[in-house]
Amino acid sequence: MGGWAPSECIAVTVKNKDPEKDARRAVIDAALTMSRSGLSTGRSGNVSCRWKGGMLITPTGMAYEDIRPRDVVFITSKGTLLDKKSRKPSSEWRFHLAAYRARPDMKAVVHTHSMHATVLACAHKPIPAFHYMVAVAGGKDIPLVSYDTFGTQELADHVAHALAERNACLMANHGQIAVGANLGAALELAHEVEVLAEQYSKVLVLGGDPHILSDEEMARVLERFKSYGQRAQR
Ligand SMILES: [Zn+2]
Repeated sequence: MGGWAPSECIAVTVKNKDPEKDARRAVIDAALTMSRSGLSTGRSGNVSCRWKGGMLITPTGMAYEDIRPRDVVFITSKGTLLDKKSRKPSSEWRFHLAAYRARPDMKAVVHTHSMHATVLACAHKPIPAFHYMVAVAGGKDIPLVSYDTFGTQELADHVAHALAERNACLMANHGQIAVGANLGAALELAHEVEVLAEQYSKVLVLGGDPHILSDEEMARVLERFKSYGQRAQR
């Protein structure tokens, strides 16, 4: 995982008179950062941000390097494309929309098939409190949602259910999804989930029962994260 730094994350600075174009650029920048940091392989993964009555999401089937602001797709909160000439959205747009519905406080969604999160997801292993940093996802574990075919409303419903309680989850036989108050926060959380997934995979490889922190201890950690004002607020 080289090349990723929080400073690369996107602060949406309104430089020109077209804030929608800035938001579209921010989605592209987040997708590029995700790809260059090794968080997503090939064209897997997708990024969106909440935008006026809906969301802006990466298009399907395009290399991130080739995406221009006009290629980013606007979908209303009801799931309709207003611009009939726009590109097709990522086939996974339904769970992005479901995430925004489940979490009115969140403004960005990052979904990736990052290596270690996907390995755990394929082994159907959620991430328990093997390390206190698991609280970064907003609870005492990082849950795993049941498998359903990509792009389906059923999968979107599973994701929405998990994200109502957490800021990130694993998706069985698929990957991971993280939400944030902005694109940078969602990206950073996806990165942290990937690091935790790698650590937990290695703990499992050592064998034996990993020592899991108690619910009481995790409640204490979550409280501390809140008072530090950084981690748990995403
Ligand atoms: Zn996917």
